[in-house]
Amino acid sequence: MSTPLRKEFSNLGFDPDELRAKYKAERDKRLRPDGNQQYVQVTGAFEHLTDDPYAAEEADRDPISKEVEVVIVGGGFGGLMAGGRFREAGIDDLMIIEGGSDFGGTWYWNRYPGAQCDIESYCYLPLLEELDYMPIEKYSYAPEIYEHSQRIAEHFDLYNAACFQTRVTDITWDEASARWHVSTNLEDDIRARFVIMATGPLNRPKLPAVPGLETFKGHTFHTARWDYDYTGGDTTGNLDKLADKKVAIIGTGATAIQCIPFLGESAGHLYVLQRTPSSVDVRGNSPTDPEWVKTLEPGWQGERRDNFCDLVIGRPVKEDLVADGWTAIFRELASMMPKKGDAQISAEEASELAEIADFKKMNGIRSRVEDTVGDHDTAEVLKPWYRQFCKRPTFNDEYLPTFNRDNVTLIDTSESKGVERITEKGFISHGVEYEVDCIIFSTGFEVGTSYTQRSGFEVHGKNGLKLTDYWADGLRTLHGHSANGFPNCFQIGLGQNGLSVNITAMLDDQAQHIAYIINEVKKRGAAYVMPSEEGEANWVNTIRGLAVLNREFFEACTPGYYNNEGKFGEAGGLNTEAYGPGINAFNALLAEWREKGDLEGLELG
Ligand code: NDP
Repeated sequence: MSTPLRKEFSNLGFDPDELRAKYKAERDKRLRPDGNQQYVQVTGAFEHLTDDPYAAEEADRDPISKEVEVVIVGGGFGGLMAGGRFREAGIDDLMIIEGGSDFGGTWYWNRYPGAQCDIESYCYLPLLEELDYMPIEKYSYAPEIYEHSQRIAEHFDLYNAACFQTRVTDITWDEASARWHVSTNLEDDIRARFVIMATGPLNRPKLPAVPGLETFKGHTFHTARWDYDYTGGDTTGNLDKLADKKVAIIGTGATAIQCIPFLGESAGHLYVLQRTPSSVDVRGNSPTDPEWVKTLEPGWQGERRDNFCDLVIGRPVKEDLVADGWTAIFRELASMMPKKGDAQISAEEASELAEIADFKKMNGIRSRVEDTVGDHDTAEVLKPWYRQFCKRPTFNDEYLPTFNRDNVTLIDTSESKGVERITEKGFISHGVEYEVDCIIFSTGFEVGTSYTQRSGFEVHGKNGLKLTDYWADGLRTLHGHSANGFPNCFQIGLGQNGLSVNITAMLDDQAQHIAYIINEVKKRGAAYVMPSEEGEANWVNTIRGLAVLNREFFEACTPGYYNNEGKFGEAGGLNTEAYGPGINAFNALLAEWREKGDLEGLELG
């Protein structure tokens, strides 16, 4: 570290070297040799955990045999934005195939008590200006977001394109007719010129392979299919049927943080089985101020979304419009940066400043635990020791106080790198068996397994080429949306594109870009489009070259799905393939690409 910065850091009130060593020790304690293999799929004996508890009745219809111009797989925000933007661009003949009984995706499945979006609603809920809708609060609860997804579907008349309670089982390209054959679990045969895969990044619940997992005789469910028949109550809590029950919840990620306060309020006794504590920041929700709404000028939502994305990627902005926990760390960082007229600093020094800003932020998070949780030992276990963006930061004002309740016990499973053992009657921790009536899995979703496993279907491209094989050693795409050998097939979601924590904005941008390409293919009278080998190879190199920026950061992080459970060098972590300079830079690059109009990197046939 250069001398002037070292001098500035002498009055911090903490020792950065000590913190670095502590972070490393806590990370090493949790690293597992089996990495992503520590989870099991929700299949076989666990299959029922993914049944749909929300559909009024089971699907019962005759198989469909039909040709459409575009099949969209997935009716979450990705599918909705694709459907909507395609219709706006004059691409009308659509079919949206969705496993749930309505639109909503994440917000259809995740109905656990307290479910809420951590991203400010004015940024997260798409099309607020177009739909003339203003969210009730700064942070929306799940039912409002679910309703908004239906509002979008109605606005674009997408219900007439919907094929619900249907799961795609295979997609095969037919060279002779230049059409995709889409097969489903209901024996449908749908032909389509274009296929859009909008299957969501976190859609397949996963379970930890804890010894004895299958032996438990009590009740179980995953948070992504909340069992209100068992718990009673609804998304606002009042889980009255748990009053005489002992409940264990495994996991303390973003989902658990939101539902644990409601479980604590209602359960006879609640055991929270934690491996890595979340960083729990202030929520500070507030109702939307009608006076503020009156001040908004047309185009305000796009401006706010761009402002937020710039801030969380660390780009300087004139004003922090969102001003919340996500942007706070970057405000802190900006205040530490040299002002006009000061001597400029090197990239290495800027990265040191970022680390110091992060230490300060996380010290604040740890102090909040200490100030809130009465029992000293419990508070110590709840303190997160890693950089803030190593894991999904969380925001909640009721979570930490829950541990002051007499009926709530925190169980630290970090020494055994996760829950030690599950038994017929409960679980074992530090040699003691705890009997429980119910185990709730708040253990997240598959990340890092193959794309086709997560989406639930294989894609056979030209000459029978399987997408599973094509991506076996990592993603290969042009701009994240399509792959050589898979004509007229586009992916919407996370991949080799600009990643935004405000995921709906990202999905919308991608949908508009793909609508442009489809219309260009039609205008040029081509049968198909896909990346050329060269175009794809160039993009993969660009992505991998820029990802180096993130490598050091994620390699030092505590394990989790952001860094492929600590094995960052292997393909698979959620953040391993994103475009390094961020979403707004990515969008600017694609805008320029469209402006040039030569579809560089794509080949038409
Ligand atoms: P996560 O994958 O974030 O959390 C899974 C939890 O299970 C972690 O705490 C993990 O511990 C724990 N776990 C896994 N295996 C074991 C084991 N063997 N023993 C003990 N604990 C174990 O899933 P979530 O459902 O919480 O969240 C998924 C994502 O969904 C979030 O990261 C976020 O992106 C999104 N989300 C967003 C929300 C929003 O407001 N926008 C709200 C909720 C979710 P460890 O950390 O040690 O691996």
